Amino acid sequence: MTRWARGLSGKPEEGGEVDEEERRPRAGSIANREITRRRELYGEIGNFLFAHDLDLTPINFSVALDYLTGANIGVEKAIRAVLMERGKITNSWIETVAAEQRADEVTPESLATMLDKVEENLDQFTGLMHESRNSAKDYGAALQEQAKDLVDGSDNQPVLARLVGLTRSMVEKTRQVESQLRENQKQTQALKSSLDNARRAAEHDHLTGLPNRRAFEGVLNQEVKLAQEAGEQLSVAFCDIDHFKLVNDTHGHDTGDRVLKFVASLLAKASDDHCHVARHGGEEFVMLFRGKTAAEACEAVDRVREDLATRSLVNRTNGERMERISFSAGVANVFLYEDARAALKAADRALYLAKEHGRNRVYLAAETD
Ligand code: GH3
Ligand code: MG
Ligand code: MG
Repeated sequence: MTRWARGLSGKPEEGGEVDEEERRPRAGSIANREITRRRELYGEIGNFLFAHDLDLTPINFSVALDYLTGANIGVEKAIRAVLMERGKITNSWIETVAAEQRADEVTPESLATMLDKVEENLDQFTGLMHESRNSAKDYGAALQEQAKDLVDGSDNQPVLARLVGLTRSMVEKTRQVESQLRENQKQTQALKSSLDNARRAAEHDHLTGLPNRRAFEGVLNQEVKLAQEAGEQLSVAFCDIDHFKLVNDTHGHDTGDRVLKFVASLLAKASDDHCHVARHGGEEFVMLFRGKTAAEACEAVDRVREDLATRSLVNRTNGERMERISFSAGVANVFLYEDARAALKAADRALYLAKEHGRNRVYLAAETD
């Protein structure tokens, strides 16, 4: 049975510290709350679709889900803008927005086109090499032939002229191949930088510059292997900004974006070869610590939490002091769970409890039988 251990930090609830036992809700009640949360979201999606008289298509469902959960900020911003402007959303407008979102992504098609070009360039390169080798071979054979005549014959003049001619044409051929190779090299460089950009775009979140969820999942698998091989600890943390919707609602999305970037930069300061930080989506971040016990990871996350929570931020657009910004987090020891995915879930559940118990705190998930 999994139980949730102590809250590591944060302000005590009103009326003093909460008793440890009271802090452990039954697993059943957490599951029930999750179901209620999902049901509510499902209901909100339905309300949204019917309010705008939208067809029940997968694309409309997905856009409504992105909007209501804030999972895709591009979609969210576009919907807010159109609602302010026209107050209504249509099926065709959603299709346009979805197509624009797709255009921003590194799609399998765009990667396939790049790979085709790489293949084409490689073929060309191999062809040039082959051609150049054959010319050199032909030149060598012709030289030998002429050299024989030079030794045998009495009148060397025509032979010498032929040798000069042969050499000139070889020099010309070499120049052509060189220039084609230079061209090929230029194209390969351009392709390499497109591929690098595509890889970066596919693995980084463009608002905060942090690795995104996809990149994190790759790193997680690698780190699990590394930690297993070296017999090291591995801990994962889920961090979620507190009442972030309120920040957006009070100060606007652009300020919200700046807060997100700021929190990301504080978390990123903790990163090194053994600590990876990524934006998991929306206002949620994940951290992975190799070589730290879950309790040590908890302390590391807590230091960032405290750093953020004690800062007094100013809204750059109007110079006004903002309310304190904080985040809550849940931490789990990866090797206490069946796999990394289960550990992430455990960290997420610990985060959920940290929220329930007042926010601005870091909770450690503990597995006990
Ligand atoms: P809680 O303390 O329970 O986590 O409350 P919350 O308000 O932080 O959580 P909720 O899930 O209700 O709201 C998250 C908000 O984060 C909704 C969404 O508008 C906002 N958000 C997600 N991504 C971005 C982003 O890239 N930029 C901005 N400005 N807001 C974002
Ligand atoms: Mg959240
Ligand atoms: Mg939040």
